[in-house]
Amino acid sequence: MKLMEDRIRKDGIIEDGDVLKVGTFLNQQLDTRFIRTLGEEFYRLFKDENVTKILTIEASGIGLACLCALPFDVPVVFAKKAKSNNMTGEIYASSVHSFTHGTDHTAVIPKIMLSPEDRVLLIDDFLARGQALHALIDLCEQAGATIVGAGVFVEKTYQGGGAEVRGRGVRVESLAKIKSMSVEDGIEFCD
Ligand code: 5GP
Repeated sequence: MKLMEDRIRKDGIIEDGDVLKVGTFLNQQLDTRFIRTLGEEFYRLFKDENVTKILTIEASGIGLACLCALPFDVPVVFAKKAKSNNMTGEIYASSVHSFTHGTDHTAVIPKIMLSPEDRVLLIDDFLARGQALHALIDLCEQAGATIVGAGVFVEKTYQGGGAEVRGRGVRVESLAKIKSMSVEDGIEFCD
């Protein structure tokens, strides 16, 4: 999507370690009008899927998911990142390794928030190695919910997560797909 690529070119900052900083418009400071426009694109792509819930993971996914949920008129659920691996009780839980922080967490949601009747759209800011999406998919599978797909703002295709998630049979729609990225050579988008 040209709008997204242009904004990354203008305001994205490439850091060592394969990290694209988008803090001034997508992560820490949110350009709400811009993100709502992107949410309308996800709506155009998924409007016939009878989405009942949008699922994301804290923290950076939450604001984005809320703005994307507006045209769908559905609730947003976010998985919390808990430290403990042995949580029990009325929760669904799946382990996730954080790409940016290098730490391990357990993504958890209360069981009452997802059911087999739900048709879930996953939303996240980045798709790198796919750990975050795999965890959200696991949570949906534990609940018996249907995954209609995943809407991702930025996919770094060269990190392989998108291919893996698609390999699990999940439809992934990414607004910008980065083919390669380095501090020296800048960003190349997929065609
Ligand atoms: P994955 O789980 O697919 O390896 O990585 C996705 C998660 O890591 C996203 O939720 C996002 O928060 C973070 N992430 C991965 N790559 C980047 C990046 O280049 N920039 C930023 N800001 N976050 C990233």
